Formats: sequence, C-alpha cells, structure tokens
Amino acid sequence: MSNIALFDMDGTIADYDSQLRSDLAQIRSPDDAIIGQMHGVDLPDYIENRIDLIKTQKGWWANLPPILAGLDLMRCCVDIGFSIHILTQGPKRTKSAWTEKCEWCEKFVTPIAPDYGISVTREGEGRKKGEGKGLHYGRVFVDDYAPYMQAWLDHRPRGLGLMPMSHESLRFSPRQVLRYQPGLRYGNSLGTVENHLAKFREQHPDLLQALEHAYSRGDGEE
Ligand SMILES: [Mg+2]
Repeated sequence: MSNIALFDMDGTIADYDSQLRSDLAQIRSPDDAIIGQMHGVDLPDYIENRIDLIKTQKGWWANLPPILAGLDLMRCCVDIGFSIHILTQGPKRTKSAWTEKCEWCEKFVTPIAPDYGISVTREGEGRKKGEGKGLHYGRVFVDDYAPYMQAWLDHRPRGLGLMPMSHESLRFSPRQVLRYQPGLRYGNSLGTVENHLAKFREQHPDLLQALEHAYSRGDGEE
C-alpha cells in the first residue's frame, strides 16, 4: 500500500467553526447569549436548531472557506511523496453534507493532490467515538479533534498524528502527536501560495523532518 497521509476536513482544512460562528452571529438577537465553545458542550435547543438550519442550507458545506495552514501541510505531504486521502466524518443529521464535502474537495484538494482519495465515515449508533476514522490506514493522520486522533492512534501505535495547535489539542499529548501553527485563515492572505507555504515550512522544521521519517521508515522500524 502506498504511503498515505489522511486529512480531516472540518477544523483542519475547511473552516467550519468560523463560518458557523459568523452565520450564528448574523441571526443573533441582542438578548441571545454569545456562543463561546461549540464542541463538547450542551448548547441551548434554540441554538442547536439554528445550527441545523444553517448547516442544511444548500451549498453551506461546499462553500466553507479553506484553512490555509492545513492546505500548506497537505502540499508538504505531497512534496515528500505521500498519497493524500481525505477522512471526514459524515454528519448524522445533514446528509447533504456528504455530497458537498466531495464538492469542496474537488475545488480545494484537486489542485494540490489531483489523485486524492476520500472516505466520508461514520460509526454506528452506540459505537466508540471516532471508530469510523480509526478503521482507516495511514502513516500520517491530520485531525483537530482529540477523540478522533486517539481512536486512530489506538490502531496505529507507530503512526504520526498532526494537530493544529489549540487549547484542546494542547491538553492531549500522546508521544506520537505533533502540533503545527493553525496560522492565518482565509481572508488574511500572506500573498501568494508560495509565500504562505514558505512561511509554513520555515515555522515547522521538526514537523517536516518527522514527516520525512514517517514516509521513509521501513515497516519494522520505529
Ligand atoms: Mg475536524
């Protein structure tokens, strides 16, 4: 099997959080609470209902803005020789997202890795969180969500996990996981793709070295 680098979408290469916050803010009344943390917390029902309405709008998923640092990391993986495979959770309640995630990849992943693969995954009801992602092979896994990373590492003790730096990811520190700067997001352009990529490379020499090692190590090697 070729050397595969698995990439999550939301929060890794597609800016789900910023878009959702911005859309929620547009329909917030002056008396509504401001939403801070959106993951792993119980939100009021009326907010959940608004989120559902936002996410079921046609084209919402297909038009999420890209996260430049995640795409820079993908370019680095391609340059080293990795095959890119997108590994993304299919939302349970928004089936249109399954198709639109593929459309998003056609737009943003194809220019970087034209021969990429994709798995839209979901574990069955009552199964272990992240089990769907954990089933997939790769030498490298890039994901922003600790439970998914853990589920993958459970099956890949020699795998290399990469996570964008965040409060959440800093609390989670298995030895196989390295962090990278989430960097500038869409709309804060540093200029050309080449300039942006050069900056990313300059900021992450250790991570690039770890990727080279993950690519070239023999099957029996740590
Ligand atoms: Mg994610």
